[in-house]
Formats: sequence, structure tokens, C-alpha cells
Amino acid sequence: MGGLRPKTAQRPTRGEGGPAGRETPSNLNDKIRVCVRKRPLSGKEKAKGDKDIVQPTGSRSLAVLEPKVKVDLTKYIEESRFTFDEVFDEHADNTQVYARTAKPLVEYIFGGGNATCFAYGQTGSGKTYTMMDTHNGLYIQAAEDLFALLRQPGNQHMQAFVTFYEIYLANLFDLLNDRKKLFAREDASQNVCIQGVREVLIQSPEDLMSVFEYGHSCRSTGSTGANADSSRSHAILQIALKDMSGRRPVQHGKLSFIDLAGNERGADRGDSANKQTMMEGAEINKSLLALKECIRALDLNKRHQPFRQSKLTQVLKDSFIGNSRACMIATISPNTSNSDNTLNTLRYADRVKAMKSNGSAGETEPTGVGSDEYCDTGLDDPAYEDDPKERAQEAATDAGYEWGAAYGRGPVHGSARDAFREEDEYELVGEADDEFATAGTTYG
Ligand code: ADP
Ligand code: MG
Repeated sequence: MGGLRPKTAQRPTRGEGGPAGRETPSNLNDKIRVCVRKRPLSGKEKAKGDKDIVQPTGSRSLAVLEPKVKVDLTKYIEESRFTFDEVFDEHADNTQVYARTAKPLVEYIFGGGNATCFAYGQTGSGKTYTMMDTHNGLYIQAAEDLFALLRQPGNQHMQAFVTFYEIYLANLFDLLNDRKKLFAREDASQNVCIQGVREVLIQSPEDLMSVFEYGHSCRSTGSTGANADSSRSHAILQIALKDMSGRRPVQHGKLSFIDLAGNERGADRGDSANKQTMMEGAEINKSLLALKECIRALDLNKRHQPFRQSKLTQVLKDSFIGNSRACMIATISPNTSNSDNTLNTLRYADRVKAMKSNGSAGETEPTGVGSDEYCDTGLDDPAYEDDPKERAQEAATDAGYEWGAAYGRGPVHGSARDAFREEDEYELVGEADDEFATAGTTYG
């Protein structure tokens, strides 16, 4: 019996967690929401005799029951429990997931905010299926709601524009323009714009679907030489609402869907440790760590936001300041052979969530829409530094985390920021640079 007792409990249920029956429903309007989605066992996994070790224990909690063997060969189950804002089991379909993740974000951008929905998890855990499935991925359901709202009387002065690009090894490629390399710039008022990105006016969910399909095919058959495995790149689909009533379109709100690169370790991919793989792995680590810190900064309305640590967070800068919301969907595989990756994903998600509730009041500072004085200023400022005490604390926690080493380069946590500087393509551009004038907008 002793063998079945949980050996360790990872952050035993926090907050309102506890026994399933006493869970309180989460708030769909929270600034940050961290949700977990478990996919079903695949046919192949079942055929292999792989077991399902992920047990949702409530609408917000789950347990991972990992079979282990002690040195004396006694078997036992190591149980790790977690609580999140939402846990979707293997029976939840994309419509149910949408209703409790992206749907509130669509409504939110009509109020003038920026919202981001991320899928985070190992390759094969269901990120693309959740976000970008061409039948009922979250982006397409969001488009249906968005166009219904655009048809309402008070909203008819607005139109929707879509951009779709990927980030691979800190480079941006336009998926709507034959993977043309793009450069992100910061203008005089510290707005980040992606110069020359193709922006396409969409007037229906079908428009979005065809634009997406075009970009998606570009993603896997890119024309720029050595082609990246799409699981090693972040795909970013953004729908911007623009007020068209003035002389020039003015951005009103923006909704971003992000299919992140797989967070599994290089060793799990069976890759030989070549330079490309190592660089990919290091870059992915760096961006996922930066992402976590930016979400934390968003939640705490912090003065300094660590955008600069990765290309991903740089291009998402405007989604981390002012009126912004984020929803992370951590996707997990249920089977025994993926338990390490599953636990890694859950721990990352748990830390994003922990940040949410652990922020001490003293750390918070007010932020308003576009209040640039509270943001990291000047991307080329070498003196950029956030709170060193907090950084040390973060580094200590990250040191216990399992990323990095498996890519053959050792943990990259401490050096993330320096590594970025090596190939920082950011430049400050002149006053005249205007977000919309440079965006290569395709109207129609
Ligand atoms: P990722 O993008 O994380 O690498 P995918 O979204 O490509 O993973 O999913 C891997 C496989 O699992 C695909 O065949 C997909 O159809 C299937 N899958 C993922 N999530 C689910 C789910 N919730 N229900 C059914 N099948 C799923
Ligand atoms: Mg994928």
C-alpha cells in the first residue's frame, strides 16, 4: 500500500483547488488564464500498450500518476497534482475549449484591448489541433464570433486584417508572402511594427480560412533553403481590428493566436546533436522563458517588461502592455512514455499561474493603455535591467527546471538575454516611421 502513496506532490492543490467537488469556477475575464488540455491516447499509443496516466480530478485540477521503480525494484506510483484555471479532458472538443479560452478574448478586443491565446506543449500534444485546425481550430471559431460582432451597429466602422508569420531561430518569415524575411522595428513611440508584413483584409470567416490555408501551406514548404520543421518554429496569426472612419486606419484591438514551437527536449526527438538542433533548442528555450516572464510582468503590471529576451516576446510587445489579456492552453499527451514532457509542460504552466497569485502588492505599478513610460524603453539600451533580486530568484527556480541541458548546451536561463544581443536585428527607426504606413497593407 505504501507504494501507492504519492511520493511527492508538485505544489499540492493551491487556492480553491482541493477535492473536486469544492472547486469554484474560474473567472473567464481574468487578465491571465492558464488552462490545460489533455488529448486522448492515439491509436498508435494504444497499440503499443501505452497507458493513460493523466487523470483530470475536477474542472480545474488533474493528477499525473507516473509508474516508477525504486532501486530495490519495488514499483510505486508517483503522483503529481496540479490546479489551473481550467482543465479540459480528452472528451472536450474544440468548441468547448473555445468557449472557455478564446471566446472571452474576442469580446475583449472590441473594447480596444490586445489579447493573446497561446498553445504550449510538446510536439504531438495537440497545439496545432487546438489553435489552427482548419475545421474548428480556435482561430476559426474566433473569426465567426468576430464577424458577428463586426456586423453589429456600433462596430460597422471597423474592419479586420490578418497577418500570419513564423519565428524560426529568431528570424521572422511572412507566411502570407512566400516566407519573405521580415524585420521588427520599434518606432519613436516604442511601438513595435513588423516592417513589410503582408496584412490582408478579411471580410468573413471563409476569407480567414483561405488566407490561413495559403499561409499554412507556405509554412511547411517554405522557399528559403534549409527548411525548418514546423514544430521548431512559432506560428503567429494575428487579427487586427481597425477603425476605418478616419483618414487612415487606426488599430482598435488585436487578437493573436500562437502555435508555439514544441517544448520537448532535443533528446526526446531522437536528433543527433547537430549545431542546427542545438541552436533551435536554445532559441526555443529562450523564447519560452521570456514568454513566461512577460506574462508574469503583464499580470503584475510591472514597470520593466522583459520583451527583449526573445524575438517572440519582442514582436508581441504590444500584447504585454496596457490593456492586455492572455490565455495559455498547455496541451499534454496522456501516455506513460511522454510523462517527462507532460510534467515539464505542467510545471511551466503551473509557474505562470503561480506568478499570477504570488505577486506581492508592493511589486505592482499602475499601467494604462499605451503608457510607454512603464515599458522597457529603447531596445538598444545596454543598461536595460530589471529587478536583480527577482531575477536571481527566477534563475534559482529555473535552475531546477529540466530544459536546456538536453539540447547539449547546458541550461540557457541565465544567459538568455546576452544570447539575444548577438543577433539582435532591432533598430530604432526615424520619427516618420508610422505603424500603418510601413505595414505594406493589402486592402482587399
Ligand atoms: P502539436 O501541434 O502539438 O505537435 P498536433 O496538434 O499536430 O500536435 O496533434 C498531434 C496529433 O494528435 C494529430 O494527429 C491530432 O489530430 C491529434 N490530436 C491532438 N489533440 C487532439 C484531441 N484533443 N482530440 C483528438 N485528436 C487530437
Ligand atoms: Mg503543431
